[in-house]
Amino acid sequence: MKILIITTFFVISCCMIGSHALPNQIVIGGIFDEKDKLLELAFRYAVERINNDPSTLTHSTLIAQPVWLPADDSYRAARDVCDILRNPVAAIFGPQMEKTANHVQSICDAMEIPHIETRWDYKLRRDAYSINLYPYPPSLSEAYRKILLALKWKEFVILYDTNDALVRVQTLLREGSFSVTVRQLEGEDFRPLLKEIRRAQQKRIVLDVHSSLIYTVLKQAAQIGLMGEYYNYFITSLDFNQVDLEEFKYSGTNITGIQLIDPKKLQHIVEDWKFGERRFARILTPDLLKVTTEAALMYDAVSLFAKGLDTLSSSHDVDIEKVYCEGDKTWQHGDSLINYMKWYGSPPQFGEGYKMGRNFSSYSGPVIGLTGLVKFDRMGFRSDFELDIVEMDQNETLKKVGTWSLSGHVNYTKSWSDTKGAVEKNLKNKTLIVMVAKADPYVMMKQDPMPLAGNDQFEGFCIDLIYEISLIRGFNYTFKLVPDGAYGSRDQVTGEWDGIVKQLMDHKADLGIVDFTITYEREEAVDFSMPFMNLGISIIYKKPQKKAPSLFSFTSPFSPDVWLYMATAYLGVSVLLFILARIAPNEWDNPHPCIQDPEELENAISLSNAFWFTIGSLMQQGSDIAPKAVSTRIVAGIWWFFTLIMISSYTANLAAFLTVERMDSPIEGAEDLAKQTKIKYGCKEGGSTYAFFRDSTIPTYQRMWAAMSSARPSVFTDTNEAGVERVSKSNGQYAFLMESSSIEFQVERRCDLMQVGGLLDSKSYGIALPPESPYTDPISSAVLRLKENGKLHQLKTRWWKERSGGRCMREASSAKSSGANELGLSNVGGVFVVLIGGMGIAALVAICEFLWNARELATDETASFCDELGSEVRFIMKCSGSTKPVRKKAPSTPEEPLFTYGSYGANYGYSDRK
Ligand code: GLU
Repeated sequence: MKILIITTFFVISCCMIGSHALPNQIVIGGIFDEKDKLLELAFRYAVERINNDPSTLTHSTLIAQPVWLPADDSYRAARDVCDILRNPVAAIFGPQMEKTANHVQSICDAMEIPHIETRWDYKLRRDAYSINLYPYPPSLSEAYRKILLALKWKEFVILYDTNDALVRVQTLLREGSFSVTVRQLEGEDFRPLLKEIRRAQQKRIVLDVHSSLIYTVLKQAAQIGLMGEYYNYFITSLDFNQVDLEEFKYSGTNITGIQLIDPKKLQHIVEDWKFGERRFARILTPDLLKVTTEAALMYDAVSLFAKGLDTLSSSHDVDIEKVYCEGDKTWQHGDSLINYMKWYGSPPQFGEGYKMGRNFSSYSGPVIGLTGLVKFDRMGFRSDFELDIVEMDQNETLKKVGTWSLSGHVNYTKSWSDTKGAVEKNLKNKTLIVMVAKADPYVMMKQDPMPLAGNDQFEGFCIDLIYEISLIRGFNYTFKLVPDGAYGSRDQVTGEWDGIVKQLMDHKADLGIVDFTITYEREEAVDFSMPFMNLGISIIYKKPQKKAPSLFSFTSPFSPDVWLYMATAYLGVSVLLFILARIAPNEWDNPHPCIQDPEELENAISLSNAFWFTIGSLMQQGSDIAPKAVSTRIVAGIWWFFTLIMISSYTANLAAFLTVERMDSPIEGAEDLAKQTKIKYGCKEGGSTYAFFRDSTIPTYQRMWAAMSSARPSVFTDTNEAGVERVSKSNGQYAFLMESSSIEFQVERRCDLMQVGGLLDSKSYGIALPPESPYTDPISSAVLRLKENGKLHQLKTRWWKERSGGRCMREASSAKSSGANELGLSNVGGVFVVLIGGMGIAALVAICEFLWNARELATDETASFCDELGSEVRFIMKCSGSTKPVRKKAPSTPEEPLFTYGSYGANYGYSDRK
């Protein structure tokens, strides 16, 4: 059925074609602003192109009739249009200025002469006889919005010159997800305003200014430092591609723009112009060699007009008549011609052309001009068009990275690897400022007899790491010490950052490296590379000193309590043995076995003998006293068992106590620190450890934070080194909370310090970069590469162990390899003291006994004590002979048996007989 209808249309159409005509010469008027030579040139050559192309207007020639007007002279514009219309013209093109254009438009409207425009016009209505090929402003505005959304811009400044811009950017102002600041550029010096923007740390700028101003604004922005890899511009002008960006190409700035036409496609037009002008011996000035969007639109406008006219002529005899502004005569074909032009811009559906009474078969396809498909919506607006998204690029100056269309939205063709490649290329041979702070062994000042300058002053793990990364990425670098020495912490009241973080945020540095912990708070403010080291918070504390063994360290195996209990047991058992021996009948023996019926019995276990027996068995020596009764033997047996166990335990423990150095630490971890108040503890002020305790929700750490923050004098230090120094000097009264990697470094060198306990958390060090730095990815991948090829490990070994490290480890292992410790006098000195003491006491007792004996003899013999003493001393002093005469003693009472005092030895055996 459809085919039948089409065939019928075709036949009818064929019958209608061919019999109608156009005048040989068709004049079209062009009204241009006096200074706008370019548009007039485009108009002329667009007409020439149509005339040279027999396929569009076969039998007619277009004649361009340009008129120049002073800008803003509406009266003259009206007069000139009327003058043009006095000659027969088929259409009026231009002008560009809004005021004059409006006048021209209303005259054309009245005269029913098609008025064709190529200018930005924000009016949301078009007059009936008007057609504008310039993209419809709300569509452009929508394109800006979609592109900025695709670029993930959230916060930016809009810089504009004229108030028209506010109409163009209205969708940006209305978009809820954008936070927009709008600033107007006034005068010629924009630097003060640009400086304000830089101070406000705005990194994204939408520049909506006339194309002639773009270069000036960018140049001034570059002068005040508002350019570089951290700044992003979006230029709304469709003539952005005509701006000379050569001097900004290597700044690293991200400049994105849009274009309706690819300037490369316009090359042949420029050649046409040059060639054509040479015929008149005219040379085109450089500004006339830049084909602007409006100039290209003029080409498309003329093409569209020619097509419309050609189609009109296929169904009508088109005669072009003079019309007068003063009269009421209008051009009868004006209406059809403008409709045909619009019809070309909105491809017909089957049947539609017929219904509209148009010659459907003469539709020769849409106009695809220099600005793409010329298409109009139902309201006659060119709302659907395609824009190229372009970016400034080092190679091509401008590179197409995507497209936008009303239907297809934003289509980015730039791949992730393109972006990555571009950034890596940009990084090559660039000189980055690397902000560092002093911290052993990450960044240290080189010790050299000669004064050093620049990068040579520094050495350390981080310095070598940057060197390795620079080899991979090919950049140069300059180290700078952070002025305030801080790494970066946010003031809890003002919210201001300090240290390296602040420097990065202000773009005073490109990289920040030191033992820089990646924290959530810092990550919000700056970017971080992949971590290059993992660690956790731990405690560095003074190693307990080896105690000089005490003189009486032989008592150490038992605690004082045990000694006390043993002494008590000794006393108790001795006394019990004595009592039981007196009770037990078997302990009473015949003292003289030769006498059959003795008068009296003797008990061998006197009190002193009981003590002698128990001490003898305690000392594992024994004695010649032996219990005979069952009860006393039980006591003796149990006492021997007791002594066996006690002495074995003592002996076993004694070896350990005399040989092993006891180094008990008063703290074993954070819990111990939190529990006590005697040992103070602190950390580096403003560092991540400080923040960890400040923000912790764990009760132990909260307690520790309360203790630390209230301690006076302060327990915080400016650097880790100061903290370590304090620990070293504090004699166990101060512990320092520090990151494990730094502790590892310190304990390798300071043998008096040690790490106490495990890690309180787990975190990493990273290289910091300014927020949204394009270099984050290349630096991260370089860090990963160094990790994987073992370079990071090598660097760590170099700075932790090889560089005068490992001393403490060596000392410890050499002490170990020297075998078991021999016991010194200090270990066993006490035993000698006891020996000497015992000997002394024995001597003293001997003297006392001697004196007592002398006194007794003197009394018995009624001699003087001194004579007795003298004769006894003289006997002793002879030091010869082992016999002594018996001194007879007269019995004092008749009942007492007579016996003699024999030698001193005999005295011992019978002493208890008295
Ligand atoms: N690495 C810490 C920081 O980045 C400094 C040392 C510490 O706080 O223990 O702030």
